[in-house]
Amino acid sequence: MMPLPFDIECLDCGYRSNYHPTQPTCPMCGSAWREVRYDLPQIAADLPKKLARRPFDLWRYRELLPVQSPDPNLYLGEGGTPLIHAHNLGMMLGNNNIYIKDERQGPTTSFKDRQAAVTIAALKEAGIADLVVASTGNVAIAYSAYAARTGIKCWAFLTSLVPASKMREVAIYGTQVVKVTGSYDQTKKVASEFAQQHDFYQDSGARSIPCVESMKTIAFEIAEQLGQPDSTVVDEIPSFKAPDWYIQAVSGGMGPIGVIKGFQEMLEMGWTDKIPAVAIIQAEGCAPMVHAWKQDRDQALPVKNPQTLIETLATGDPGRSYTLLRQKMLAASGGAMESVTDEEAFRAIHLLAKMEGMSVEPAAAVAIAGLIKLIRNGQIKPDETVVINCTGHTMPVENNILGDNWARNLVFPTQNAPAQKQEEGLLAALSHVASDRFPRIAIVDDMPEVRTLVKRILQSQGAYTLFEASNGREAIEMIRRELPNLVILDLMMPEVDGFSVLDTLKSQPETAEIPVIVVTAKELTPAEKERLKGRIQSLMQKGDFMSDELLDEVRTLLN
Ligand SMILES: *Cc1c(COP(=O)(O)O)cnc(C)c1O
Ligand SMILES: [Zn+2]
Repeated sequence: MMPLPFDIECLDCGYRSNYHPTQPTCPMCGSAWREVRYDLPQIAADLPKKLARRPFDLWRYRELLPVQSPDPNLYLGEGGTPLIHAHNLGMMLGNNNIYIKDERQGPTTSFKDRQAAVTIAALKEAGIADLVVASTGNVAIAYSAYAARTGIKCWAFLTSLVPASKMREVAIYGTQVVKVTGSYDQTKKVASEFAQQHDFYQDSGARSIPCVESMKTIAFEIAEQLGQPDSTVVDEIPSFKAPDWYIQAVSGGMGPIGVIKGFQEMLEMGWTDKIPAVAIIQAEGCAPMVHAWKQDRDQALPVKNPQTLIETLATGDPGRSYTLLRQKMLAASGGAMESVTDEEAFRAIHLLAKMEGMSVEPAAAVAIAGLIKLIRNGQIKPDETVVINCTGHTMPVENNILGDNWARNLVFPTQNAPAQKQEEGLLAALSHVASDRFPRIAIVDDMPEVRTLVKRILQSQGAYTLFEASNGREAIEMIRRELPNLVILDLMMPEVDGFSVLDTLKSQPETAEIPVIVVTAKELTPAEKERLKGRIQSLMQKGDFMSDELLDEVRTLLN
């Protein structure tokens, strides 16, 4: 093999050596913690021009990856995932700059595709034939797909917590699955033992060179996508822009370590002007990093018995990954570490699906729940640009989040009954699907996007007949005509405002009793609050209410 155009630098003794996948530690001091150093000035001078002619996929940045000549025959569609502007979520949370990096759209539907694609390419180049991974599911699935395509034998050690459907997904690619009854940390230990016994290559997450390097491509893509928000054209020299925040659900920490390194390299090449603040979100029942961060410690205490249903995030002992991550965060723009409950994550799955049309796995929803928390506690400001890594969707989650009545059953009437009976039977069956009269709700707001948001929230969880009005005059007319069961009312509208609408409704017997929910962006003065007192059922602040809260209120008032 030709010498590679980069060095590996030991983080402990600073010794620089060449890279070879079978040499996982520093030849000088034996440390497993090393990083790749590229000739960044050279790459900064050459790469932008080349980018203009390359497709938008992971290999676009190949000069910044530890693979010499990527084999196009192994390509499965890795990288190049869309960055989606989350308008509706943003409106609900009062921040219009929320973006979702949709990693579900990789070949095996999680961001582990990047890790597997780069590692397998490096192994192929080095002529390695066997690979061992310990996994909570997604790593094993991604490696299995790429190993199958390459002809490398894969051994996957999975904790018995991994759902059977995920295990079968691993096995279908021809990987040897080893089920370990024990924690994820114990699983990693036996996998390591096995790899050593047989002298097989072992993936070791944040300590594996290709893993950390592969995660940088998330940063490169985000910066390019934010740099040209209005175009999908890639035939020109791109501009780059770093967001204010990068948010990710974290287990072992490989993702953010790599992403920060990617932003660091762009900064050094003069492509961007900063490294974003990073928000690390963990499941409350397994949050060793969050605990240590909040106590300002540079080492995390292991969580011996992780208590979370979200097995993807069950790394109890992050070891030195935490220390390294914290160092990198503090040296850049800082950030936050926060935990959320399983319950909050499941609610976030539902919310994202209803608001943005994206169904994600619980681990990815942990990041969304974290976003909500950080916006609400003021750590993320309304004008800051936020990118959330939506890391994956590799399991059917619906069991956990939908109640019992998520589907309505329709049984066809028997085929051999007379035609008229069949018809009657069909109508009777349909009447179980929905009653023919729905509760009637009037939505009054001068901003069409707010009306749409409220409609979307209501329709996601029930059937209503909805009426809309975009100003006070129209609203009064419509409410008199339709006599709805409930009014959702904005206060600030041109000409006839919400206060006047309320005055008129209350002054007339036929409309005086209709319950009213006020949804407003206005900070109310004491005098205004007095004007509303006793005349409305509920007051909600725009940009600060969750869909569930509005729905609960609506259901209560309609009963
Ligand atoms: C692996 C994984 C994570 C955690 O990634 P790390 O950066 O290694 O901590 C989060 N979400 C999903 C869906 C994953 O597969
Ligand atoms: Zn060393």
